[in-house]
Amino acid sequence: MIASKHATRAPLLPDSARRRLVDDLRGQGVTDERVLAAIGRVPRHEFVSEGMRWRAYENTALPIGQAQTISQPLVVGLMTQTLIADAPRKRVLEVGTGCGYQAAVLAEIINSVFTIERIKVLSMQARETLRRLGYQNIIFQYGDGMSGWPGHSPYDGILVTAGAPEIPQALTAQLAAGGRLVMPLGGSGAQRLVVIDKQADGRLQRRDLSGVSFVPLVAGKA
Ligand code: SAH
Repeated sequence: MIASKHATRAPLLPDSARRRLVDDLRGQGVTDERVLAAIGRVPRHEFVSEGMRWRAYENTALPIGQAQTISQPLVVGLMTQTLIADAPRKRVLEVGTGCGYQAAVLAEIINSVFTIERIKVLSMQARETLRRLGYQNIIFQYGDGMSGWPGHSPYDGILVTAGAPEIPQALTAQLAAGGRLVMPLGGSGAQRLVVIDKQADGRLQRRDLSGVSFVPLVAGKA
């Protein structure tokens, strides 16, 4: 065969493409085997539209409609790994369901995943996808996640998958003692990933991780 820079790689079947993605993530700092195994199991191509499927196992964010994105696998891996480190987390709240991919990765590891989305069509589509894939430990709400979901609180972990300039107070209030919140903090487009730990006495301790780029957290429903 003639090697040319225009030669196209044969499209990989999802299983091998996913294995290659997992190897990439391992090399980029996702070291928790529970997270790598979860990413290795969740069929990311089921969460994007037909026309995007061929790119589903690239390590990039992709459009999912409604001006929103499916998060980059590396960021999903790092956020999940950070959330579940140091203590068992049985009940986790996710703000920003989007297409439901991050919720599926969480559900592979955590007993109960509660997820909120403010855009109705995305919430409905995510429910449909996750039901079809057989996830029974994800509980959905269409609503504004800035107020959290008090009815099921407290949570051992809260993951916010949209960026905001401030940490919504309702979310830290719904965190259990010993619980952890992970979210992108900062203005639109460029944020720091921050980790907030709630101490036994209720005090909040913050540390900053890497820079990330998320769509903004928006108040109200759409
Ligand atoms: N978790 C997704 C990423 C979704 S992008 C994944 O697995 O790929 C972020 C999502 O947060 C968008 O769907 C957006 O509509 C949603 N969002 C933004 N502000 C919100 C809010 N206040 N409450 C709930 N969802 C919100």
